[in-house]
Amino acid sequence: MTKKLIAFDLDDTLAITKSPISDRMGELLVRLLEKYEVCVISGGKFEQFKMQVIDRLEANHLRLRKLHIMPTCGTRYFRYNEIDGKWDMQYAEDLTESQKKKIVDILENEAKTLGIWRDETWGDIIEDRGSQITYSALGQQAPPEEKYKWAKKFLEEKKVFRAKVAEKLPDLEVRLGGSTSVDITKIGIDKAYGMQKLIDELDISKEEILFVGDKLEEGGNDYPVKVMGIDCIAVDKWEETSLVVEALIFSSP
Ligand SMILES: [Mg+2]
Repeated sequence: MTKKLIAFDLDDTLAITKSPISDRMGELLVRLLEKYEVCVISGGKFEQFKMQVIDRLEANHLRLRKLHIMPTCGTRYFRYNEIDGKWDMQYAEDLTESQKKKIVDILENEAKTLGIWRDETWGDIIEDRGSQITYSALGQQAPPEEKYKWAKKFLEEKKVFRAKVAEKLPDLEVRLGGSTSVDITKIGIDKAYGMQKLIDELDISKEEILFVGDKLEEGGNDYPVKVMGIDCIAVDKWEETSLVVEALIFSSP
């Protein structure tokens, strides 16, 4: 079936991890927007997309209208508003205030019970990211070497902590994040979730989407998209993606 929308993972697909896209990729994406709707989906926040992709595109409003930005795996969705030249949030599926309060209380109580709650930290221990609450044992700005030390010392406690918190929040997902962190989200938030949201929002079929990502093997963060039956192209780095985009530009009618 003819594709209407090309969806891309961000890190290691469109750009080097956490870096802006290259000039070459920027030019190609602008040309791709002439022919297709384009979506970028990743676990990061909107600000990350802005820095890595949006600010690097020299595109007019007609093309920007065709760009679909899905931060935090599609729990948020942004489109360009040509009237005021801003990116408008179409929806945000955040945790509710009562869910957040409950999460924060449980995190603090369990950490104190286990003796891992610290009063002296580098920034806040608990951060509200809207659709995710993150607990960082040493604070959000702790230096990496301190984090590694902590992670080694409290290896067991961290696992027990996650399990205890998970037990108290059975309707949410509680995952070990970085070396000192635990992340709490709604259950089942991954890139397939984001793709389904996009299908619903744009009223297109999954057969009309082509997805390009670097982690499509089992266990990878792009794998759920493949499992839901969307056509996928696996790449290893942005240079490979640029060849895929070139082929799409030149082969489309
Ligand atoms: Mg990736």
